[in-house]
Amino acid sequence: MSQTTVSYKDEHIYEFTPDLEPVYTAENGESLTIETIDSLDGTIQENTDILDAIPEEVNAATGPIAIEGAKPGDVLKVTIEDVRVNENRGRVVTAPGFGLLQDHDDIEHPLTRITPVQNDSIEFEGLNVEIKPVIGTIGVAPATESYTTLVPHDHGGNLDTTDMTGGTTAYFPIFQEGAMLAMGDSKAAMSDGEMCGTGSEIGTDIDVTLEVVNDPPVSLERPLVETENEWKTIASAETMETAVELANRDMVELLKREHDFEATEAYMFSSLVGGLEISQVVDPLVTARDAVPKEYLSNPF
Ligand code: CA
Repeated sequence: MSQTTVSYKDEHIYEFTPDLEPVYTAENGESLTIETIDSLDGTIQENTDILDAIPEEVNAATGPIAIEGAKPGDVLKVTIEDVRVNENRGRVVTAPGFGLLQDHDDIEHPLTRITPVQNDSIEFEGLNVEIKPVIGTIGVAPATESYTTLVPHDHGGNLDTTDMTGGTTAYFPIFQEGAMLAMGDSKAAMSDGEMCGTGSEIGTDIDVTLEVVNDPPVSLERPLVETENEWKTIASAETMETAVELANRDMVELLKREHDFEATEAYMFSSLVGGLEISQVVDPLVTARDAVPKEYLSNPF
């Protein structure tokens, strides 16, 4: 059975706004393939192609895709079946004013390293790195504010979270009719933290199934992911302290409900299992998550 492909060539956005118009409307439960271009729009193809500055438009997100029946207060369930790289090279770059070590004299800005794809790996300076794709930017139309695709927030966006990959189910709060999902900014590989400001940026084909959870029993304020073994809350904020506070607070609410705990007991339990993880430390807001193994938390929806 063939499924519809929505490509960045059809439509893509550089800003998540409250009033997005869909390029495609999916049925509730429909499976789609989403084609994405690399976060730098194909401008970096050789080591001599460098970034003097972060371009005004980055992280082209394919979409927006409306989902029938999605209304504010519902939850969008995105089952990510597979993420495949669709070109023969990725690229890692530094750029002035960007990245964790941007002020260190011995770290060169800008610099580009092309990472050729060889079977299941990319190659960096003679070293092979297994391809583990990551969808860097994925989100829905926000409530009132607009956010460029460089910014992560409660709607998702530039989350740069390694769990956004095949086998994960991602959940987003729905703020607008139709939800208006868009995604792009994939990497062939990326570390937690994304310290230099990029992973191996690359185009991908992403298989997803889109479902609406109508009138969910839990109100979701920020993205949540279900991986093979864990549930993880995801939060973005100006500081890492605030991001981890929000992620932990969201997890406390889930643990309270699951185990009939008081808030303090849920808080204490969150300090016993799973734990905090860094998504990225380089975007305008930083992103963190709080993980709890599935044996202690069931599907809240
Ligand atoms: Ca990104």
